[in-house]
Amino acid sequence: MPESHYDVAIVGAGFSGPILAANIAEKGVHPSTGDQLKIALIEAGPYLKGTPRPGYGSATRRQRFSNLGGADPAFHWEDGSARLVGGSSLHWQASAFLPFPIDYIHWQKETGVDWTEENFREAVAETRREFSVHAYPEEVNTRGNRLFYAVAKQMGYEPYRQEGARRNCIYCGFCAGAQMCKYDSRSSTLVSYIPKAEKYGVDILANTLVERVLIASKGERGVATGLACSSEGSSYELTADHIILSCGTRKTALLLMRSGYGPADWRGNPIYVENPNIGKHIDGHPRGPGISALFDEPVGHGEVGAIRGYYMVHDERADGEGRLLFRADLGGNMYPQQAALNTFAPEFGREHKQFMQENGILKVGSLNPRLSKASGRWFLDPDGRQVYGGDHSLTIRRTKEALQIAHEVLVKMGARKITPIDIPVRVTSGTGGSHLVGSCRAGTDPKTSVVNPYFESHDVDNLFLCDGSVIPRVTTGNTGTPQAAVTVFAAARIVERHFTR
Ligand SMILES: Cc1cc2nc3c(=O)[nH]c(=O)nc-3n(C[C@H](O)[C@H](O)[C@H](O)COP(=O)(O)OP(=O)(O)OC[C@H]3O[C@@H](n4cnc5c(N)ncnc54)[C@H](O)[C@@H]3O)c2cc1C
Ligand code: SF4
Repeated sequence: MPESHYDVAIVGAGFSGPILAANIAEKGVHPSTGDQLKIALIEAGPYLKGTPRPGYGSATRRQRFSNLGGADPAFHWEDGSARLVGGSSLHWQASAFLPFPIDYIHWQKETGVDWTEENFREAVAETRREFSVHAYPEEVNTRGNRLFYAVAKQMGYEPYRQEGARRNCIYCGFCAGAQMCKYDSRSSTLVSYIPKAEKYGVDILANTLVERVLIASKGERGVATGLACSSEGSSYELTADHIILSCGTRKTALLLMRSGYGPADWRGNPIYVENPNIGKHIDGHPRGPGISALFDEPVGHGEVGAIRGYYMVHDERADGEGRLLFRADLGGNMYPQQAALNTFAPEFGREHKQFMQENGILKVGSLNPRLSKASGRWFLDPDGRQVYGGDHSLTIRRTKEALQIAHEVLVKMGARKITPIDIPVRVTSGTGGSHLVGSCRAGTDPKTSVVNPYFESHDVDNLFLCDGSVIPRVTTGNTGTPQAAVTVFAAARIVERHFTR
């Protein structure tokens, strides 16, 4: 049974929540008494407990995670995002791109935060250590990825070996596309920060949905006093002196609006404390076309899995706007259904059988461009729907250029067939994106941001936010590990200002 009052209540036990809970519990104390803090970590989804043994897994988790796809409703919200203790850190692909130097500059330029590379040094080091971030070993490198490296180098690019976040991984390769790892090898908060949080006395309240943050008015401002929760059919309220939201970029913004804190035009329920930036300025990687190729010789080896080999960056401007990141995935493992329905698989019939029998799939690879500093932004409209708006000229032009660059590399690699690049690149208000950040961005000016650089709400006392929502601009690569670094940094700042005697 949960306590009725906590010093700190953290909502969301995905990537960020467990890091905050563990580090605040370990390093913070009650500022007036010096006592250990009473902390609750609240998660809407279930907690699949088990001894953390990366490389072995636990019996419960092995059973649940084997063959568990991305759409299992037991562990996912309607929008496909993860809903369980560990959150998306359980079904990410563990491609680890910590922030590039230009990403820190973009954060500072966007909203004035002092989130510099120097200030982040310790947080990045802890993230690397806790999530076991390291370059993929040479023995799982495919012929195709090596060929990509040689050609990219010849063309004057600087290709880098991809890093991943794994411990005792056998590189079977079967953890792409939101599949969980049955051996707990892929680094997640479930096997790192959750055990640490429990060690320092954090109460983990699983299967508990936070419906609203209770915000009392204090003149034009608000003060967060507690949470309205529902669990297994019953509703209750708990109070807390400090409330931290870590529900993910979209869900944190929506929870605030449902709690009466947001833009005045929100149509869901009355807004008592206004901040027009909630749900706006969302940055991310717009979904664009990929490019695949078929080679005469196998580019994969079919024994141990290849999990993305190299990546390279293409900039046209020194300030990094319009930056392109290309990820080479040449000869990686595929699930049988992906192999059978692959673009290069012949029509079903004798030739298709031959393609499958001869393992023709090992001759297939892809080079995936991603525009990481696009011109458009997403926002949540007054009904909470996600819309892509802004000037898309840069997005369209750079996406077309990306296809040409990828095509050139693949031709030089000797590809026999390449998927078309003369396809129309359309961007509409419904264009989706991945790695969305910034819906409650941090900044120095309350007129253009939601929290200050210390993760404290500009408008509501005792309320803190930390997850993808506070990151002012998307990073060059995937956001999981940058977000972990931001969270380690946030925990240190919150302890220093609120939980030190
Ligand atoms: C399929 C996929 C693959 C990815 N691959 C990579 C990758 O290879 N590398 C990389 O760096 N990044 C990757 N990412 C991105 C990365 O996983 C996310 O950036 C990160 O997990 C976001 O963390 P978060 O803490 O903001 O949200 P989450 O991890 O989603 O955590 C939010 C948690 O809050 C809970 N919650 C939400 N609302 C409530 C509520 N009202 N009450 C109680 N609980 C609530 C949710 O159930 C969830 O557990 C991937 C993402 C996906 C979806
Ligand atoms: S490749 Fe993926 S599924 Fe296989 S052991 Fe490693 S992390 Fe787990």
